[in-house]
Amino acid sequence: MALIVHKYGGTSMGSTDRIRNVAKRVAKWARAGHQMVVVPSAMSGETNRLLGLAKELAPAGSSPELNRELDMIASTGEQVSVGLLAIALQAEGLDAVSYTGWQVPLNTDSSYTKARIESIDDSRVRADLAAGKVVVIAGFQGVDDEMNITTLGRGGSDTSAVAIAAAMKADECLIYTDVDGVYTTDPRIVPEARRLQTISFEEMLEMASLGSKILQIRSVEFAGKYRVPLRVLSSFTPWDIDINEEAKSGTLISFEEDEKMEQAVVSGIAFNRDEAKVTLLGVPDKPGIAFQILGPVAEANIDIDVIIQNVSQDGKTDFSFTVHRNDYARTMALLESTVGPATQAAKVQGDPKICKVSIVGIGMRSHVGVASKMFRALSEEGINIQMISTSEIKTSVVIDEKYMELAVRALHKAFELEKNPE
Ligand code: ADP
Ligand code: ASP
Ligand code: MG
Repeated sequence: MALIVHKYGGTSMGSTDRIRNVAKRVAKWARAGHQMVVVPSAMSGETNRLLGLAKELAPAGSSPELNRELDMIASTGEQVSVGLLAIALQAEGLDAVSYTGWQVPLNTDSSYTKARIESIDDSRVRADLAAGKVVVIAGFQGVDDEMNITTLGRGGSDTSAVAIAAAMKADECLIYTDVDGVYTTDPRIVPEARRLQTISFEEMLEMASLGSKILQIRSVEFAGKYRVPLRVLSSFTPWDIDINEEAKSGTLISFEEDEKMEQAVVSGIAFNRDEAKVTLLGVPDKPGIAFQILGPVAEANIDIDVIIQNVSQDGKTDFSFTVHRNDYARTMALLESTVGPATQAAKVQGDPKICKVSIVGIGMRSHVGVASKMFRALSEEGINIQMISTSEIKTSVVIDEKYMELAVRALHKAFELEKNPE
């Protein structure tokens, strides 16, 4: 008998028929003798709908007070899901109980809309499991020290599931979604994308951090820190497929770097359209200038991603960096009102219509020429590279957003990702 955590995403929970299917699948696992904890997301579209209602009434800008209420509202999507799923499980003849995040409790810090999990008290859940119940826990939400409801950031149900699996030392965490695993890139953009049977933890971490929405980055971090066996698989297979076959399907996030994985130089392509670029033109090129620019940005709690500083000409340089698109207006206002004048910048420029496309692979460590192959493929499509950032296992470029799909397809082809590595 194993302790298994299943997570079902929004599309998998998208209608009462689909919820019934989820219940049948979970019932199959429970009847095979496993202790089951199930973490569903809100029904598809529901979180957007709820946040949309809030935005209709909200004043412009963002504040902790507003964010607290956004979490209050958004968390209800998952509350509905757990109740519905528990009812569907009961209809399958199982003993099932649902909990919100605060009922568990799943404790977080107070950073509304992007809270971090601090601890999980699993005693209530364990008692239920011991009594033979299936426990359904709302994804995406928790509670802070003062009993305020928090949420974990978009896509956060992945993180709830992995964190619960980690806290309970579950034997496996299965992330059921609307694709049958992790692909070389988003199969919605490149139909030739290939499913990976395994992906190394490091590569999955890079893919998630570079914008692949298949798993929320924090869920991958938790899996790595606590060595949670993690698999991504489809909720759209017939619910009654053989359980052993199902247990081996999809993509396993692997913690061992075996030889087979090292053969692929590039394993996947990630993209992110949520960024925006800002540039300070003609700032004096002197010690401390980067700090003078980025210090106030960091103080305003704005995360900075790619940074580029040009060579200096006549003692002046141009300085560009990217931020999340949600922070674009705030960043521009900050640069125009204070940072620009303080650093004697000649001009402040911004471009919210950029995207970042990245190639990822642990094989890049031991191969040269990978980045140049990337640049050639982009140049053959006439795509201009605005910024470049590299690390041991990835190369990212910032380009005009309108070329994003073209770039992803061209790179997928150039690195022959549709083919199985020899
Ligand atoms: P869920 O609601 O189940 O959490 P998400 O929409 O958050 O589902 O994530 C699944 C989606 O991630 C897929 O439908 C797919 O379009 C997208 N995706 C992005 N990159 C990849 C990738 N490399 N492999 C598979 N799916 C990907
Ligand atoms: N329902 C939340 C969202 O849409 C959390 C999740 O789906 O993982 O972001
Ligand atoms: Mg998701």
